[in-house]
Amino acid sequence: MEPIHLFVPRFRVEECLAQVRECLEKGWTGLGYKTVEFENAWRTYTGLPHAHFLSSATAGLHLAVRLFKERHGWKDGDEIVSTPLTFVSTNHAILYERMKPVFADVDEHLCLDPKSIAQRIGPRTRAVIFVGLGGNTGRLQEVRELCRERGLVLILDAAHMAGTRLDGRHVGGEADATVFSFQAVKNLPTADSGMICFADADLDTEVRRWTWLGINKDTYTRTVEQDGVYRWYYDVEHEGFKYHGNSIMAGLGLVSLKYLDADNAFRRQIAAWYDELLAGEEGLERIPQARGCESSRHLFQVEVDRRDEVMAALNGAGIYPGVHYQDNTVYRMYADMAGTCPRAHRASGRIVSLPMHLGLTRADVERVADSLRQVLARRRSGGSRPLASVKSIG
Ligand SMILES: *Cc1c(COP(=O)(O)O)cnc(C)c1O
Repeated sequence: MEPIHLFVPRFRVEECLAQVRECLEKGWTGLGYKTVEFENAWRTYTGLPHAHFLSSATAGLHLAVRLFKERHGWKDGDEIVSTPLTFVSTNHAILYERMKPVFADVDEHLCLDPKSIAQRIGPRTRAVIFVGLGGNTGRLQEVRELCRERGLVLILDAAHMAGTRLDGRHVGGEADATVFSFQAVKNLPTADSGMICFADADLDTEVRRWTWLGINKDTYTRTVEQDGVYRWYYDVEHEGFKYHGNSIMAGLGLVSLKYLDADNAFRRQIAAWYDELLAGEEGLERIPQARGCESSRHLFQVEVDRRDEVMAALNGAGIYPGVHYQDNTVYRMYADMAGTCPRAHRASGRIVSLPMHLGLTRADVERVADSLRQVLARRRSGGSRPLASVKSIG
């Protein structure tokens, strides 16, 4: 039987090739040109006031921490509250700036629980990074309020949230900086790129210098728009990074953006099929969606006991689910916080992300749901065959 994979990116190949061709024929593949067009398109789509196109969301998370650190005079060793249930980028970004991630626990949405955040706030806490896991907004509004009351910066890791709306508005306006990922398996696929959206206009201006080595003028402006003998001239104000996006990626992004709402609507359809087919299933818990959240549905997650056995049994049926994510404290470099977030840790051993991509049909979703139900039914009747097959995996 055909394998059913967790993620399969869909590209509109002819339209993407036309975009790439335009760049090649113009002789401009880098910063400027389509990157500007894509930034404008993203601002129009989301309604967010500012957007700067990047090489990745990881770069964006680093820049968010860096720029707020500069602006507010944060010190090395100051703390940022974050979640252990995320891709490691989120937490590495804090360490890049020699600050300290402090993990708070998650709620039933698998997003940060504001009550737990409040317990972690101390004299050196400066910010919170909230991850909208799978596109879910969780208790983002409450976290927004908490940050406002306690004078903390809020950074939104919206890597999963391209197209997520909360109470009818695209997410991002809640945070001081919101970072999106357009990596190939995310909802708005390119190959690798991202977007950082600051609330503050000055930071938007500032970040453009930081993404190109501190150089205060981009090459496109110098080459194409500026006349006279000083075309070649620029100043360098600080070290900066090489984090800007390029026109090839922006071209792919422009195509994906056209289809984002339709693609996400189909993802929600897949989620509704899973919901329907798995309704009332014993031994399986679903992750509730926050009220008012029209999720991008980057993920469809469920929780089961002895997850690794379930995964192995599904693999045996040609179905390849994923796990988003392992509690980061299981990794050696974050192990010092092991045991501080029991709910995240428990979820980490139980969550399964079922296949979720635009190539799935109703029949595929039925096959996944049937296989999952069979595994759980076999377990209830005391069958142990799937257990045996797991031991070899370790
Ligand atoms: C994918 C992802 C990132 C990193 O995105 P890149 O664009 O690959 O750097 C960060 N946070 C989360 C939650 C992600 O899923």
